[in-house]
Amino acid sequence: MLEKNLSEILKKRFNKVISKASNEEIYLALLELTKGTIKKKGANKGKRKLYYISAEFLIGKLMSNNLINLGLYEEIKEVLAKNGKELAEIEEVELEPSLGNGGLGRLAACFIDSIATLGLNGDGVGLNYHFGLFQQVFEDRKQNTVKNPWITSQSWLNKSNIKFEVPFAGFTATSTLYDIDVTGYDQEASNKLRLFDIDTIDETLVKEGINFNKEDIKKNLTLFLYPDDSDEAGHLLRIYQQYFMVSNAAQLILLEAEENGHDLHKLHEYAVVQINDTHPSMVIPELIRLLGEKGIPMSEAIEIVSKTCAYTNHTILAEALEKWPIAYLQKVVPHLLPIIRELDNQVKLKFKDEKVAIIDKDKRVHMAHMDIHYGYSVNGVAALHTEILKEEELKSFYDIYPEKFNNKTNGITFRRWLIHCNNKLASYIDELIGEGYKKDATKLEELAKFIDDKEVLNKLGEIKKANKLELKEYLKETQGVEIDENSIFDIQIKRLHEYKRQQMNVLYIIHKYLDIKNGNKPTTPITMIFGAKAAPAYIIAQDIIHTILCLQEIINNDPEVNKYLKVVMVENYNVTKASKLIPACDVSEQISLASKEASGTGNMKFMLNGALTLGTEDGANVEIHELVGDENIYIFGESSETVIEHYKKEDYVSKKFYEKPAIKELVNFIISDEMVAIGDEENLTRLHKELINKDWFMTLLDVEDYIETKDIVFKDYEDRETWNKKVLINISKAGFFSSDRTIAQYNEDIWKL
Ligand SMILES: *Cc1c(COP(=O)(O)O)cnc(C)c1O
Repeated sequence: MLEKNLSEILKKRFNKVISKASNEEIYLALLELTKGTIKKKGANKGKRKLYYISAEFLIGKLMSNNLINLGLYEEIKEVLAKNGKELAEIEEVELEPSLGNGGLGRLAACFIDSIATLGLNGDGVGLNYHFGLFQQVFEDRKQNTVKNPWITSQSWLNKSNIKFEVPFAGFTATSTLYDIDVTGYDQEASNKLRLFDIDTIDETLVKEGINFNKEDIKKNLTLFLYPDDSDEAGHLLRIYQQYFMVSNAAQLILLEAEENGHDLHKLHEYAVVQINDTHPSMVIPELIRLLGEKGIPMSEAIEIVSKTCAYTNHTILAEALEKWPIAYLQKVVPHLLPIIRELDNQVKLKFKDEKVAIIDKDKRVHMAHMDIHYGYSVNGVAALHTEILKEEELKSFYDIYPEKFNNKTNGITFRRWLIHCNNKLASYIDELIGEGYKKDATKLEELAKFIDDKEVLNKLGEIKKANKLELKEYLKETQGVEIDENSIFDIQIKRLHEYKRQQMNVLYIIHKYLDIKNGNKPTTPITMIFGAKAAPAYIIAQDIIHTILCLQEIINNDPEVNKYLKVVMVENYNVTKASKLIPACDVSEQISLASKEASGTGNMKFMLNGALTLGTEDGANVEIHELVGDENIYIFGESSETVIEHYKKEDYVSKKFYEKPAIKELVNFIISDEMVAIGDEENLTRLHKELINKDWFMTLLDVEDYIETKDIVFKDYEDRETWNKKVLINISKAGFFSSDRTIAQYNEDIWKL
């Protein structure tokens, strides 16, 4: 049946049979077939509808996931294979939408998949950035940034006929709404991801790299995600983007409520808004404003909106909690200020504590504070994170509103992060325990009964090996680097940030390099793999990338060492690359400074794909540790309590640690003659100084424990059977981290759809 449909489309559009069609033609035919199949499904319905508003949706390529969710994947693969075609190659035709930056955006993507899979009535709402986040290219061992166009004439985007007017100081923008269908796994009905675009967008504004005129708002509003905000124009542009997003979202919410004949006085019974991080916070005053235009008095509007909005906090890093100067808001959205001032006045009347004010004494608006006062739920994204919010970062708010605070430990969709990215493992699990785990992930626990089954343990090792071989070929093809599939694959892939401590991994590599030079050769060779984009204005992050690329050059070209150790930094880390890297991983690096990683979701993907975690007691690592037990994870480093104490007392002095000879040797290697000979002295020196004189994220505090623990990991790898037992336990316990579980909890506690 599918073969017939596909053949008909190819015949009609290209006058070709499957075996003679190009990958591009087959892709376009599959796109038509898949979109047609989705269209036949209705939309989810329900009294209440969720609007998940997010600046990012890091959805990744959609073809395979849609085919999996529609139940067509295996059959299509067979049909194509029969005609000499490979789905994996056809997928290459699709461009990855660059609508997100990292974990937060990927979480939003997993969530909309799970919302649809649970049959809940809820859409994602965001912006249709034309060039999204930048694309990373390495030049002279440094990160260079270029635009990342992803919108093609035929794609998953559907243009709707919904348009809104968005008022700004001085002009009114007209928007168009685009939709991407979101199919749940094995579901009758579907949802949508709704992306707004400005009609006057002009892609030609971008001349070189990612530079453009930041002041030409009508032409630039939806060009880039997170445009450079190191100057005022950049700040203002982000406010333009945020308001454009939420005004459109709010107008959509009211339009749909009215279309369904709902009474706006009871909006909270029909709509719930999840504010993903602080970027969409202005939806609160905007909804109040729009309800006012519909004749609802401000006091009542405030009450309605407060029962409609819920806020998710994603970070305790102070610099990431947005605070917009009133002067900036005045320049962009002056009509919101009377409302924000009123919200602030009401807070100040009730609470004397300056820490909970919305507008502070420096005349800045604290977006998170507005969310907490005027939303009905505040959640953190892992157990430890939520505790830190309650006890430390947001304690003053928790004291006022204990009932609003709740935890929702993050999750990942197993459709993408197991069934699609690691089809070999998924098929083997099907064989062992059936397919029930695809709808109820906790059923993975049934795998535990094979703990003493040598055949199963062996097979897990073989699947890993096959995935490593695939990655080896991919890296050779795409980056021209040669790695050894028999080596241990140790992987750290995530945004580049000092708190995630790629720099600590760098110090381990230096340790290992020097150790091998001294004649201590590892039994099994080691391949250290990185992937990370760094924000263009984040100087030290650029320096860390440069250092990794220099080490890659030195180590991979040193004949004494490269048989035992290699370093690869994968270019332009994104969802597509993650899907290839994660199934091939042995050791998952989750080494953030305890208390700083809100949850992490990379850690969950690795666990599910049979990698063992080397990590600190941070974010969801804590919950992974509890689930798998001490024997099946490698934990090191100071606890979050100790770290928080150090910050309070301001008593961490990196120089004291640097003075230890063993540490000094590693840190000083960064500015050694070898490094300076191939690297940029300015970058290397800056990182060297930073580690010695500041080290805000306490690399040197944990580095010795890290090196010791990592050497134990590599030693343990030698006992293949025991290692594979640990692998089996990790996979069997990963069910908790299905985003289906997370979303069921959001719905149970917050949304009540
Ligand atoms: C999962 C994922 C992330 C988040 O990784 P963390 O290790 O949790 O920071 C970032 N980027 C991409 C492409 C991902 O798939």
